Amino acid sequence: FYSEGDSNDYLFKIVLLGDSGVGKSNLLARFARNEFYSNSKSTIGVEFQTQKMEVNGKEIKAQIWDTAGQERFRAVTSAYYRGAVGALVVYDVSRRQTFDSVGRWLDELHTHCDMNVIIILVGNKSDLKDAREVSATDGKSLAETRSLFFMETSALDSSNVKAAFQTIIKEIYNILS
Ligand code: GDP
Ligand code: MG
Repeated sequence: FYSEGDSNDYLFKIVLLGDSGVGKSNLLARFARNEFYSNSKSTIGVEFQTQKMEVNGKEIKAQIWDTAGQERFRAVTSAYYRGAVGALVVYDVSRRQTFDSVGRWLDELHTHCDMNVIIILVGNKSDLKDAREVSATDGKSLAETRSLFFMETSALDSSNVKAAFQTIIKEIYNILS
C-alpha cells in the first residue's frame, strides 16, 4: 500500500486527475517550483515530482504524478494509477463541463486503486471570478456526497495550492500511521 524506507521515511504516490486544461500541471509547477506557465507547455515531459514535507517530525516524500496530457484521449494508463495512495481530482471553476466529468474520474480512480485512496476535490482557477460557472457551494456539496476533501485553488495567484497538497499528504499520513 505504501513503501517505507527506514521507519522515519515515507514515500506517498499521489496522482493528479481531471480533464485537460483544468490546471493540473500548473498546480504541480506552483507547488514544486513556485512557477506558472500561461500556456500549456508545463505538461510536456514531467512524469512526477518529489516534494519533501515534515509531519509530526517524520520526513515524508510525496511523489506527485502528472498525466503528461494522456487525459486528452481519456487514455490514462493503469501504470499511472498503480500504487497511488492519494489523488487530487481537479476541475476548472470556469468550465462547468470539467466539473461534470469529476464523477467519471472518481470511477476510474476506484477501478484502478484501493478503495481507501485519499481524495481531495480541487476547484482550480478561483482567480477567474467573472467567468465562474461552478460555485464553491456546488463543489463542497459534491465533495460531501462522495466523502472527499475539498478546496478551491488558483495556480495563477497561488491561493490554497500549498494547502491542498499539504491537506492530502497529512491525511494520508494520519491514516497510515
Ligand atoms: P492541465 O491540462 O490540467 O495540465 O492544465 P495546465 O496546467 O496545462 O493549464 C491549462 C491552462 O490553464 C494554461 O493556459 C494555464 O496557464 C491555465 N491555468 C492553470 N491554472 C490556472 C489558474 O489557477 N488560473 C488561471 N486563470 N489559469 C490557469
Ligand atoms: Mg497537464
